[in-house]
Amino acid sequence: MSNKKILVLPGDGIGNEVMYEVLNIIDWLSKTRSISFDISERLVGGTAYDKEGDSISDKTMQEALESDAVLFGAVGGPQWENVEREKRPEAALLRLRKELDLFANLRPAVVFDALAESSPLKLKIVKGLDILIIRELTSGVYFGQPRGVSQIDDNEEKAVDTQSYTTSEVSRITRVAFDLARLRNNKVTSVEKSNVMETGMFWKNIVSNLHLNQFQDVELHHMLADNCAMQLVRNPKQFDVILTDNLFGDLLSDIAAMLTGSLGMLPSASLGPLTESGSRSAMYEPVHGSAPDIAGQGKANPLAMIMSFAMMLKYSFNMVEDSNLIEKAVQSVLSLGLRTHDISDGTNKVVSTHEMGKAVIDELKKITGN
Ligand code: NAD
Repeated sequence: MSNKKILVLPGDGIGNEVMYEVLNIIDWLSKTRSISFDISERLVGGTAYDKEGDSISDKTMQEALESDAVLFGAVGGPQWENVEREKRPEAALLRLRKELDLFANLRPAVVFDALAESSPLKLKIVKGLDILIIRELTSGVYFGQPRGVSQIDDNEEKAVDTQSYTTSEVSRITRVAFDLARLRNNKVTSVEKSNVMETGMFWKNIVSNLHLNQFQDVELHHMLADNCAMQLVRNPKQFDVILTDNLFGDLLSDIAAMLTGSLGMLPSASLGPLTESGSRSAMYEPVHGSAPDIAGQGKANPLAMIMSFAMMLKYSFNMVEDSNLIEKAVQSVLSLGLRTHDISDGTNKVVSTHEMGKAVIDELKKITGN
């Protein structure tokens, strides 16, 4: 029995509703699987701003730094739109990413058989899809200097963003991609624009060298980003792990997400650097936001949040069996025809957030006999 320290930050809107269902699953796991978690729950986002004067307090940030992993719901809402920029709900997310140095963003795009029909693409193209996009999250053109707008003359201004990467920044994200590919189908496609960008060629060379020196057992392909966008729609099942920079990852992960058909089904993980003891900071969160339009109505799909927790078990705690168990329970629930409103095609039984969460626990009980 080992105690894993998890900081739970439900946040705003449906963040609270979907997190509640995960807490029930954690409770079930603790009782039946001999897993002991130390759970600490704190405010974040607009709710924290209202009660604590900031979207994330220093105390909460300190707890995040001391925890083994952070489980994050969602933040934001129209009531905080006019709050000053540095205290807005989204600022909490940026602070967490920055101070935990979460440089590796993992976004799986998995099409569950029971939901394959709801993809905008043809069934034969997406059925069985299971890819993982690994996006560099803390460098590249969103952070490079110089940036800004300057005056050229009376009639002309100039805007500049700088795409910049260092050797260590590319190496560390590449290592994550190769390491994770080894746990999957052992194939990495590294995506850049080496035909027209200096950083693209730089990126490609570093990935190739690391592959040659340390990861020859993993199949490596290089692909230009524009082609990758096309291939994701034409034949997405050719990919296993896609490794890419901050800008291309932003775009390509959204394309991949849409292959699966619903925002309420998409989990994510963001990982920090590996420490000498072998641990790393990590935050797990659904891709969706706080959905103010459905908040408080019991309509939110909790599965993205539940699968974010499953990713936590796998990537932070190496509890692969328990992680797979949760994914299997989610699949069973979907196969039974249960749907929250966002994934219903009108022919299924539509259930509430809590009914969906409870159905996952019922399946866990069935599968394990507990
Ligand atoms: P959103 O993801 O909250 O919602 C988009 C649409 O998808 C809405 O119609 C919503 O009802 C639906 N939806 C989202 N998640 C769902 C779920 N689990 N189940 C069922 N339906 C779901 O995006 P938005 O409306 O653009 O943003 C709302 C607020 O959330 C804004 O304040 C935004 O800044 C914030 N936001 C936060 C995060 C985050 O915390 N990581 C991410 C995106 C947006």
